[in-house]
Amino acid sequence: MSRLTHLFEFKKKVSDEFRNMLSPESKAKAEGDHHSRRKPRPCGMTIHTGVGCSYICTYCYIYDMGFAARPKPYPLKPEEIVYALTLNPYIIPERTLAAYGSVTEPFLPETTGRALVYMRDIYRWLGLPAQVSTKAILEEEILRGIAAGDPKTSILVTAVTLSDRRIEPRAPDPAERIRSAGEASRRGFKVSLFMRPIIHGITDVEAEKILRLAADSGIKSAVLGSLRVTERILRNLGRCGVNIEEIKRRLAKPLSGSRQIEVRSADLKRRIKRIAEDLGFSVFRAACEANVYAHGRRCSICNMGPCNINGRLELVENNDIKDLFEYLNVRYRDVNVAENVIKVTLRGKGDDERLKYIISAATYRRVVLDHLV
Ligand code: SF4
Ligand code: SF4
Repeated sequence: MSRLTHLFEFKKKVSDEFRNMLSPESKAKAEGDHHSRRKPRPCGMTIHTGVGCSYICTYCYIYDMGFAARPKPYPLKPEEIVYALTLNPYIIPERTLAAYGSVTEPFLPETTGRALVYMRDIYRWLGLPAQVSTKAILEEEILRGIAAGDPKTSILVTAVTLSDRRIEPRAPDPAERIRSAGEASRRGFKVSLFMRPIIHGITDVEAEKILRLAADSGIKSAVLGSLRVTERILRNLGRCGVNIEEIKRRLAKPLSGSRQIEVRSADLKRRIKRIAEDLGFSVFRAACEANVYAHGRRCSICNMGPCNINGRLELVENNDIKDLFEYLNVRYRDVNVAENVIKVTLRGKGDDERLKYIISAATYRRVVLDHLV
């Protein structure tokens, strides 16, 4: 059995173990949950640790998605979420990047316990490389909880303004966040400053101050990311004194109700990147880049790669892919594995998108599929 096929067999074994252990109610809950079938985003599987968030950040889109401001732990028990993930056909143990905290703050008083147990158990059973994004002060309980799971967890601590408390009215003080993140970094945790979303006229103006505080505190890397707005977010930003005419000028598409529209920020990112690099930061263009860096891996899944070129390249040979195709009953003619890309010629049509995704996730390479005509 090849290296890759072994991962699929391993997942099946874990799934069987949980199937035998869980009650019929728990199995039904896990099977009906979206974690059991949702396709991961291009750079990883977002894992929901809670529902709703009480921080009501001005730029937050979860309220447009129907989430409430009163948070609750995610309704699956830890063993149910692990089982749900074993059922998800896109998840590859030890490979698929896991991102905790995408539609909530994971370390709210109501959700911290659940988030930390999820992180511990998902890592224990499936070994998914973890990343968590947070606005929490990284206190001992949180750090101990993170360390009980993936020891290389990439921790992204958000700071987009130090002075304007209207932007994140209920989140902990950003300077305190940064100081605690710096302390965690000094203790060996893989912490990055998360400067996302860059809010025009606020984050770019304060960038140097934020980055200097982060550097002085001991943080060595930063992730930069653009703002996305809905009609509601734009109105809220306007009430906080943000120049919304400038944001409107930068919209990638016309505003449309609760749809999230990207605000073009390449010039601001370039400027902030220069400041950060002058201060000695490694600057990542995407959250997943921080995750592969934290885990010492090299990745060329998308066109932005290869990322972390000095990281570990997953060892894959043509025969590993051929063996996997035989295991998955996929008919092929040619397979060609190179350092950054895998080219495959298939015989007949199947679920190309899924196949492409799982080969990419398993090998950390871009996949080009074509068909024998
Ligand atoms: S902490 Fe995150 S999820 Fe909560 S309101 Fe702010 S941006 Fe939204
Ligand atoms: S190549 Fe870089 S940006 Fe693309 S998925 Fe991999 S880590 Fe993310």
